[in-house]
Amino acid sequence: MTQPNVLIIGAGGVAQVVAHKCAMANDVFGEIHIASRTKEKCDAIAGSVAEKGSFKRDAVLHTHALDALDSDAVAKLIRNADIQIVINVGSPFVNMSVMDACIQTGTHYLDTAIYEDPTKICEAPPWYENYEWKKRDAFKRAGATAILGVGFDPGVVNAYARLGVEYFDTDTVTDIDIIDINAGSHGKYFATNFDPEINFREFTGVVYSWQNRAWQTNQMFEVKRTDDLPVVGVQNSYLSGHDELHSLHKNLNVPNIRFWMGFGEHYMNVFGVLKNLGLLSEQPVKTAEGLEVVPLKVVKAVLPDPSSLAPNYKGKTCIGNKVKGKKDGVDGEIFIYNIADHEEAYSEVGSQGISYTAGVPPVAAAILIATGEWNVGTMVNVEELDARPFINLLNQMGLPTRITDKDGDRLLEFAV
Ligand code: NDP
Repeated sequence: MTQPNVLIIGAGGVAQVVAHKCAMANDVFGEIHIASRTKEKCDAIAGSVAEKGSFKRDAVLHTHALDALDSDAVAKLIRNADIQIVINVGSPFVNMSVMDACIQTGTHYLDTAIYEDPTKICEAPPWYENYEWKKRDAFKRAGATAILGVGFDPGVVNAYARLGVEYFDTDTVTDIDIIDINAGSHGKYFATNFDPEINFREFTGVVYSWQNRAWQTNQMFEVKRTDDLPVVGVQNSYLSGHDELHSLHKNLNVPNIRFWMGFGEHYMNVFGVLKNLGLLSEQPVKTAEGLEVVPLKVVKAVLPDPSSLAPNYKGKTCIGNKVKGKKDGVDGEIFIYNIADHEEAYSEVGSQGISYTAGVPPVAAAILIATGEWNVGTMVNVEELDARPFINLLNQMGLPTRITDKDGDRLLEFAV
């Protein structure tokens, strides 16, 4: 594909990173567009890209107002701007309508989070089967590639899971534990690192994990583990439900796949109070004045905008997979991971580390669609694709992957 035009949907913290990284790769891409509900946010991102001089070749970021829930409007913009690749980093509520527009126009599609129905929380597994996977045949018929959940987690950790399975002897991997630690500090009393509404929705329901080849349920903060991790040191994390489990359990033959999220005591206390008061509910309530409000949306409205945390964020993140299996017949465990730095992300693209880790991978994936390596002409989750070109590209784009195994700790790269 020669220099595909790209449309970024959404103008939040992740979109800011996607825009900068697309600009840095505009020798691979053609025209780059960004569209969101609030056009001023797109214009601010275009300003940041221009100010930092991110474009590799002289260009401008084209900005548009768009309601991404209106699939005809999305399709119209795709046609008018002659778009070949859509990177959807808007809210997960818009996934299905954006996908419909891509199917209508035969456009490649990437996103970083599973679809969410605003009225439901923590849907029954496998979640992808309820929504995205229903559109696989339509993508195939349209000859378009759709790569689901290609942020960091989900996304890069799915590639790590596949690499872990390939590292060990065939069918010997027993456990994949995905661990997400943010050891950074933003200096606010309380804030979430990405959209508060989506962040809370992840943790208010039941926790699904894949254990002994079956779905197991737990309560949030019920099961804890402690690990001594590279750079960030000793950290607690809690068994959590997460997107990637809903595809990995099907695509990899591994009996135990769990997701662990690190939380500080303070986050857990505030979360507990908000939840117990009913302020994290997605169901509308009526005030005495007759005003109908969704408590969760009110909490979102009063909390800091995640992208506003970037200038003062300090510290590092460590996200990776512990994988257990047999190597040459002997039991072993490896850790495949990335360390990202909030301050480095801010100085490079004006964003905090969580947005950075989520925003770089979809751009790497878009490059691999453009080069043909990941242009598979159907819908896939990341673990269904060859992880090696992706990992090599991320190493060059600011998200290096390291591996700790019996041979020590080192950068993970593959011969081409
Ligand atoms: P933000 O809330 O900062 O940004 C979301 C953007 O989507 C906003 O600009 C919002 O517009 C826009 N939007 C919402 N609804 C519509 C609509 N109907 N039409 C057009 N635009 C709309 O979120 P983040 O940038 O933090 O996250 C973006 C995505 O990345 C989310 O899906 C999130 O779950 C995912 N994510 C994935 C991670 C990963 O590692 N896989 C990690 C972190 C996030 P407005 O400004 O008007 O509200």
